[in-house]
Amino acid sequence: MKSVLLLALIGCSAAAVPAHPEPPEGGPRLVVLLVLDQWPEWSFEAKRAAFHGGFERALAEGDWHVGEHPSAATLTAPGHALLGTGAATAASGILANEWWHRDVHRILMAVEDEDGHETTKWLRVPGLGDALAATPGKAVGISLKSRAALLPLGHTGLVVWYDPHAARFNSYALAHGTPAAAPKPWLEAYTAAHPIGPRLQPWTPLPDTAQLAGVPDDNPGEVGDKGFGPTFPHDPAATKNPAETVFTTPLGNEVVFEVASAAIAGEHLGADRAPDLLVVSLSAHDYVGHGWGHESQEQWDLERRLDERLAGFLDDLDRQVGAGRWAMVITSDHGASPLPETLHGGRLTPEQVRVAANAAASAVLGPGTWIDNTHYPNVYFSSAMLAQPKSELASATKRVIFALRSFPAIERVGKVADVAGHCGTRTGDDRALCLTFDPERSGDLFYLPARGFIMDTEDEPAATAHGSIHDYDRQVPLLILPPGRTKHAPATAPAGMVDMQTVAPLLAGWLGVQLPL
Ligand SMILES: [Zn+2]
Repeated sequence: MKSVLLLALIGCSAAAVPAHPEPPEGGPRLVVLLVLDQWPEWSFEAKRAAFHGGFERALAEGDWHVGEHPSAATLTAPGHALLGTGAATAASGILANEWWHRDVHRILMAVEDEDGHETTKWLRVPGLGDALAATPGKAVGISLKSRAALLPLGHTGLVVWYDPHAARFNSYALAHGTPAAAPKPWLEAYTAAHPIGPRLQPWTPLPDTAQLAGVPDDNPGEVGDKGFGPTFPHDPAATKNPAETVFTTPLGNEVVFEVASAAIAGEHLGADRAPDLLVVSLSAHDYVGHGWGHESQEQWDLERRLDERLAGFLDDLDRQVGAGRWAMVITSDHGASPLPETLHGGRLTPEQVRVAANAAASAVLGPGTWIDNTHYPNVYFSSAMLAQPKSELASATKRVIFALRSFPAIERVGKVADVAGHCGTRTGDDRALCLTFDPERSGDLFYLPARGFIMDTEDEPAATAHGSIHDYDRQVPLLILPPGRTKHAPATAPAGMVDMQTVAPLLAGWLGVQLPL
């Protein structure tokens, strides 16, 4: 059943499509990938009945599936890379949002080079932007977050992201993995006409949000974000950096949609028969999730406003591109856990893991720095540890594994070398684990949180998080609005499970290009 469904979804399979065919008359002129950053399937199902706007229209024009992320790297950078390339971490090389680089002995962001500049050089595979580069079609990525704008395109395209220091969006031409400032007249005009400052008004909930959410405004576990506390109202003026609060209010979604509409007009997206790609990633969805959780009044309010705003964006696509001339996938880079308070779970920090791991190694090797980094889900041994005689290293490794297994918050600890490589020959959780690691870049050991436990940091505490192998992190809504669709009764439940590795080939098929995986 599942394989039949997958074949049907991929439709004109990428492998069967010539590299640059003349797009058929009636084919989509604009393909839109809309990413709700951190959007768990369980949360959408809980809120589904409250949506009567854009989500309702999407469910009446498209198909609702449960998208299953293939690995435990259920994080923003690996998720966005997967959506635009079809490749999980084992092939994409994007381990996490940031990871330890052994050669330079420090952490770099997923889209950061050694000098601190934005780059997609760590992405090992091409993306949809690269595939489109050899056609007359354009690829545009827009988000508050740079990694979410860049990675779905691959190494080529036009990218736009938000600069909180300047309180504005900037545009960049991405070529060979390097984004270079490329001010676009339409974005400059938008910025001049819509300054962010005056729009940083207090966020208060819609009248019936509290009733729909059914939880108190200070639900246990909520911490707030970007200077906001657990309860409404959230006033940007009361925070240290008001322009940062764009990341964590409904305004964050509003401005990204506005820039997307301005890009469609300014870049003439969907204006001719050569299909264009527009990636829109809504980052505020992620920040509100982290700050208050998906059960919260804040998340309910954000999504009810998003439902209405999405309807406006779909109408704008009809107006600018033409009804029936655009196709869309609405989905997410990863899900999230319910509040740990509701799962009898808890929170764990990488620092706790590092201290425990180093103490365990020290019990065998004596005092020293044996662990370089424990940024989830990897444990990197120091060069001093790796230089130990074979028997001492084996003994210390065993002691570290046992120490980490003693945390109730940790469900699985092992050697990366034991789970990485030859992913195609593995099944079930072993395959998901295999796809989580890059044998060259990943750590010496890995650890995975137990159900209900999230990875947290002391500097930036979170209500909830993601990044595990559990269903709540891997399963996300996948709404597919294909070309040539007809309206039907809006779906009230998902139709079945689809592997998220099929999304990029599906989009490529609509665009008439091949992803050279
Ligand atoms: Zn994310």
